Amino acid sequence: GVLVAGSANLDFVVRAAHVPAPGETVLGRGFATFPGGKGANQAVACARAGGAPTRMLLALGDDAHAAPIEASLRAAGVGLDAVRMRGESSGVAFVCLADDGENAITVAPGANAALRPDHLPPLAGVSHLLLQLETPLPTVKAWARVACRAGIHVALNAAPAQALPRSLLDDCQLLIVNEGELAAITGEHDITAGLDALDVAAVVVTLGARGCCARVGSQYLLQPGFAVDAIDTTGAGDTFCGVLVAGLSLGLAYPAALRRASAASALACTRLGAQAGVPGYEQVQRLLAV
Ligand code: ADP
Repeated sequence: GVLVAGSANLDFVVRAAHVPAPGETVLGRGFATFPGGKGANQAVACARAGGAPTRMLLALGDDAHAAPIEASLRAAGVGLDAVRMRGESSGVAFVCLADDGENAITVAPGANAALRPDHLPPLAGVSHLLLQLETPLPTVKAWARVACRAGIHVALNAAPAQALPRSLLDDCQLLIVNEGELAAITGEHDITAGLDALDVAAVVVTLGARGCCARVGSQYLLQPGFAVDAIDTTGAGDTFCGVLVAGLSLGLAYPAALRRASAASALACTRLGAQAGVPGYEQVQRLLAV
């Protein structure tokens, strides 16, 4: 099975005519809350991909926001290893979505920032660990080390981009990044050069509507995107990561797992919300059969 260890948030989203300038108050409309956080989004995608037992290690605050965060994961069939952090708030994001397409986001990581190496649960039954960089880097490094030593396949979605210590890369079998993250991490703007610059067994770069490409060992793969009417690309990258690792854990080879991840993440763009937009197994099958 897959263990996703990472961030979980509740996003507070308001639509407005424009993003407020410093000191300005803007009257918004259409307030809604959405469960988010890269870790939780990826866990939902992994569980909904079908067939891969999925658990998530997450941190919850001492507040009312913990309940909807948990509920969304449970509804998707994710098993929870939840650490309740005394005196912390749950992770939240305040999102202003402007009509001109701009957005402004403030994140308070809260409990996510309190995750420590010793929060990793026992790894019995875990074949794949999926990590992101929204939890403290020393913690991510420690989790990757423990899992790697236990013979577990470690996948890292290096987002948000930051410098990756050699010791972390050494413990990863798979790195997943988008184009901006690849450039930030490697300093390379050429994709092939970027893929080659990272000394990890497999590296996947997502290319938005164009799909993705990968280097697996010395082999290069290209998976074109699936054409869809995209209305909200929030969570596309997270869906991609969750479904890719779900596929690998079920024994799919990279070409098939990348194809499935591309189809699922394209469908995620056709629905609003990061977790609510994640398609189910049947919907992905239908797109793959076209
Ligand atoms: P991120 O959201 O992390 O920046 P990308 O924009 O590269 O990542 O998107 C991740 C994946 O989602 C892509 O590899 C692709 O499969 C899918 N995707 C994203 N945008 C579109 C789109 N407009 N149409 C179809 N697929 C898309």
